[in-house]
Amino acid sequence: MMISTKMAKALNDQIAAEYGSFYIYAAMAYKLETMNLPVFARWFHLQAAEEREHAEKIAKYILEQGGDVKLQAIDAPKATWKSCLEICEGALEHEKYITKRIHDLMALAHKENDYATASFLNWFVDEQVEEVASTNELVEMVKLAKTPGHLLQLEGRVWRLVEARK
Ligand code: MG
Repeated sequence: MMISTKMAKALNDQIAAEYGSFYIYAAMAYKLETMNLPVFARWFHLQAAEEREHAEKIAKYILEQGGDVKLQAIDAPKATWKSCLEICEGALEHEKYITKRIHDLMALAHKENDYATASFLNWFVDEQVEEVASTNELVEMVKLAKTPGHLLQLEGRVWRLVEARK
């Protein structure tokens, strides 16, 4: 194996975190569908799909480095959100948490002089800047909506964000 056991374990933990993100965003999407906000739901389904891709990207890297991929149990999402704003704010908090995890992984790679993993993680560092920015944009947008009618009107703007992601 070309990476340390510790690094392989940390990357496997991140795979679980990415699948965990997939699960949380899928739950948020289903909740938004029950709130009759299908375009917001679409944004979250796309977000969920991206998280699965992140998990797969890390798994591929571990395999390339001669390590084993070990999938872990994923906790059920706490689906207690009461509003679209709560969901979007929850997503923003979650992205900040994931950013912290990626930075911790990068710190470990540097500590171990593991230049390959540091280079691999650069993509995720950049990705998190984008994730936090786009989720923040969503939160700021939803904050402006004071009534369910306003929220429905916002769906046109969210649709453009959905289109931009493709
Ligand atoms: Mg991710």
